[in-house]
Amino acid sequence: MRIVTARRISQGFFLALFLWFCLVATVGERLWQLRGWPVNWFLELDPLTGLTSLLASGTLYAGLLWGAAVLALTLVVGRFFCGWVCPFGAMHQFVGWLGSRGKPLKERVRRNAPHPAQQIKYLVLAFFLGAAMSDLAARLALGQVAASLAGAIVLGLVLWATRRGQGGRAYALAVGLVLAAWVAWSLAAPHGGAWLLAGLLDPIPLVSRSVNLVLLPLADAPARVAWPEPRFYQGAGLIATVFGAALLLNLWRPRFFCRYVCPTGALLGLVGRHALWRVGKKQARCGACLGCDGACSGAARPAGRLRPAECVLCLNCLDACPEDDITYATRPSAGGEAAPDLGRRRVLAGLGLGLVAPPVLSLSGVLGPGWNPALIRPPGSLPECEFLRRCLRCGQCMRVCPTGVLQPAGPSFGLEALWTPVLNMTIGTSGCQLRCTACASVCPSAAIRPISLAEKLGQGEFAAQGPIRLGCAFVDRGRCLPWAMDRPCIVCQENCPVSPKAIFTRVAWETVLTGLVAGSATGGELTVSGKALKPAALASGDYYLQMGAARARIVANGAHSLILTGGSDWRTPAPGEALSVAVRLQRPYVDPARCIGCGICQHECPVSGKRAIRVSAENATRERAHSLLLKGAGPV
Ligand code: SF4
Repeated sequence: MRIVTARRISQGFFLALFLWFCLVATVGERLWQLRGWPVNWFLELDPLTGLTSLLASGTLYAGLLWGAAVLALTLVVGRFFCGWVCPFGAMHQFVGWLGSRGKPLKERVRRNAPHPAQQIKYLVLAFFLGAAMSDLAARLALGQVAASLAGAIVLGLVLWATRRGQGGRAYALAVGLVLAAWVAWSLAAPHGGAWLLAGLLDPIPLVSRSVNLVLLPLADAPARVAWPEPRFYQGAGLIATVFGAALLLNLWRPRFFCRYVCPTGALLGLVGRHALWRVGKKQARCGACLGCDGACSGAARPAGRLRPAECVLCLNCLDACPEDDITYATRPSAGGEAAPDLGRRRVLAGLGLGLVAPPVLSLSGVLGPGWNPALIRPPGSLPECEFLRRCLRCGQCMRVCPTGVLQPAGPSFGLEALWTPVLNMTIGTSGCQLRCTACASVCPSAAIRPISLAEKLGQGEFAAQGPIRLGCAFVDRGRCLPWAMDRPCIVCQENCPVSPKAIFTRVAWETVLTGLVAGSATGGELTVSGKALKPAALASGDYYLQMGAARARIVANGAHSLILTGGSDWRTPAPGEALSVAVRLQRPYVDPARCIGCGICQHECPVSGKRAIRVSAENATRERAHSLLLKGAGPV
């Protein structure tokens, strides 16, 4: 089998596997929705997700260790991940192939020539690394002060000990003390801002997000295999635009994204240029047909001085060489090799920009007094500062959410939160379901902790800490039907899933119709005059005919007749007696101590547009600072 055929089979297999994982990652009971698929495996394989989350959070979620294995293997065989595994790479390869088909060799060589713009991906990588390690760098700088002090003391100790012939031990002591000082400072330093922005352009989160939130909802809309209702994701147009542009640009330059943008490709290129096995020419001089350059996906120039960092290991060059002069071996190319043109100053600028981006953008106070109460995170989410250090923006949580309430945050939430999950209670089939922890169980980076149902509900061993609250519902009395329009409605109270209910009502009576005059009475039916009634308008059981302090419930009405069920103090009105109609309202109140902020009330509220009861992130358990009342000020 030709090596290129093997590569295509591998790409097709991993692309199909990736799409299958996206498809099966739904919550349901159907056979194909099997539990236990490693649906995050591609995200875990991506070394940049592991590296940036390690830098940003200081911890590495176990699954992300797969990325370390990819880096290690890249050191041996080169960028196999880009050329043989990456599903996004496979898509680029295919579209790039479509764009190059039928083009003359000269044109293909021109399109595949190395270009200075290939440096951009290193700049992108540097920016994301800088943003991820911003906080670490700040702590390191402060740590250096502590370490310098400790170093000065230790230097004295070393000199003192060296005079006594104990240099070796003292040196070890010195190193240990300096390191200990730094570690101690790092641990003690308050956490600042560091953001895991890499997910914006990291290929696996990017393609996961695009497939989860754009392609699958589109594909599923006609057949409704995955979801009974069509899915909508806010801002999916922007996600689709980025995805579509990345794919279409391959028609202009093959593997455009991989060559010029991909930060993971940049990272793997930096490692892969030192790989044990690499593509190369057997001899410096060849027929110079340039067939290999015309076929090269990575613009690595195999015919001349090879750029190993750019080689995506597509191995098209091996296939294209008529003289069998290109090999994949453990020796450097006989044609010579060139180091990646990093543009050192630009990369440093990218790193610097990344380092200052979180603190500068945080000046708006997004993690402090300027926090956005509309940013309601899924149950189990870490505090916002930690959340932004971990969320990959992969969209897995939004994809598995059975109700579709989890939405990608739009630009209005700021760059730091773009495409992270946020609850939008008015989208989807209901708010956050009480007995569901799907998002928590699928999150690959533990930005949403893997909580149990008992923890979510505050049961069993979690009874003392109570249920997880996403926020709190507030009644907008200016829009609420019983409050603002004297219309009976208890939809929010009825739908509150908490037991005992977090929404309770208080009865209020309001006179809604006056000027009725009693006519003749037969059994329970009374004729009235003075005003014509809308037939059946008072038949909901909430309206009462009022005569002084006595009331009788109206169970049906015509234009001039009422059917009544009288109360104990009710008497049949005499003809000509003045009557009015009152409505019995049950006005809703929220008990913040019980409300978990699930948003089902907001979703079900019949007031269209801006609902009359809305959840905000206040009182969420994940942010103690956002409690409604100061600690000790009340039961909340
Ligand atoms: S919170 Fe959602 S979008 Fe963020 S990493 Fe977890 S699963 Fe992906």
